[in-house]
Amino acid sequence: MNNTQTKGYVGRFAPSPTGKLHIGSLLTAVASFLDARHHQGRWLVRMEDLDPPREVAGAADAILRTLEHFGLYWDGEVVYQSRRHDLYQAALSRLQQNHQVYPCYCSRKTVLTEARGQGIDGAIYSGHCAQAKPAETPDKIPAWRIRVPDQMIAFTDAVVSGQQQNLARQVGDFVLRRADGFWAYQLAVVVDDAEQGVNHVVRGQDLLLSTPRQIYLQQQLGYTVPMYAHLPLLTNALGQKWSKQTHAPALNEAQREALLRQVLRYLGLGEAPAVDHVSELLLWATGQWQMPKTGCLSIITTDV
Ligand code: GLU
Ligand code: ZN
Repeated sequence: MNNTQTKGYVGRFAPSPTGKLHIGSLLTAVASFLDARHHQGRWLVRMEDLDPPREVAGAADAILRTLEHFGLYWDGEVVYQSRRHDLYQAALSRLQQNHQVYPCYCSRKTVLTEARGQGIDGAIYSGHCAQAKPAETPDKIPAWRIRVPDQMIAFTDAVVSGQQQNLARQVGDFVLRRADGFWAYQLAVVVDDAEQGVNHVVRGQDLLLSTPRQIYLQQQLGYTVPMYAHLPLLTNALGQKWSKQTHAPALNEAQREALLRQVLRYLGLGEAPAVDHVSELLLWATGQWQMPKTGCLSIITTDV
């Protein structure tokens, strides 16, 4: 049975307020919006403000204003991860009760020196604290890690098709709550997607390698695994992903029609017709929409 038909499509855009939207994040927002609207679905916006040191004051509001300016209107209230501590704690407590997680007291230095090798996301944690007895635990606040299995986690992505990863060999036991008390992205995103009923995740390919961790967490927490679509990344002329670190320019709102047309072209929708108002561009694109299929990782270089 098709889940989408029985429960209705729920998609989302989940920016981190570390800066203003740029052409790369606009592409993600537009694609997830169009996919949701094309399927008569709901489109939610969630502010991923979990990491205060990386946040920029005013960025969350600026992102919301830009979305509205481009006609990307969301359904319901914007959800802020910084206000959802209790939900994340409840999920961690369930994993604690089932002994699927353990406290890790290792310093960054220990993690690096004892690493089992290099994984897709840096050093693979040795598992040092996985066997520690409670009596041996030092008097400091631990991080919490989840034990991962030595088996393949596979999924079919709507853009890049078949994907698989062995968490034990390529990632290692990963952190759900950091020693500084902040929640890890991997836990928060899984709890929120489930709690908000999100069944379609459309986002950039920079998160493709995080997806097996998220699927594993969904399985451990008894959540339904959503459909995933990981979009090509836009890069600058040096081949770097547009981001705050690569100095992606903020979107020039005076050029919103040209920018939207550009994004629709990147998404493979071709040349949009002349319109009186930008909102008609999104309506046109909703009718035309098809998820771009690349079959492999891909990038588009842009000068915007
Ligand atoms: N907050 C993440 C980011 O801005 C996106 C998370 C997601 O879409 O799962 O990169
Ligand atoms: Zn440890």
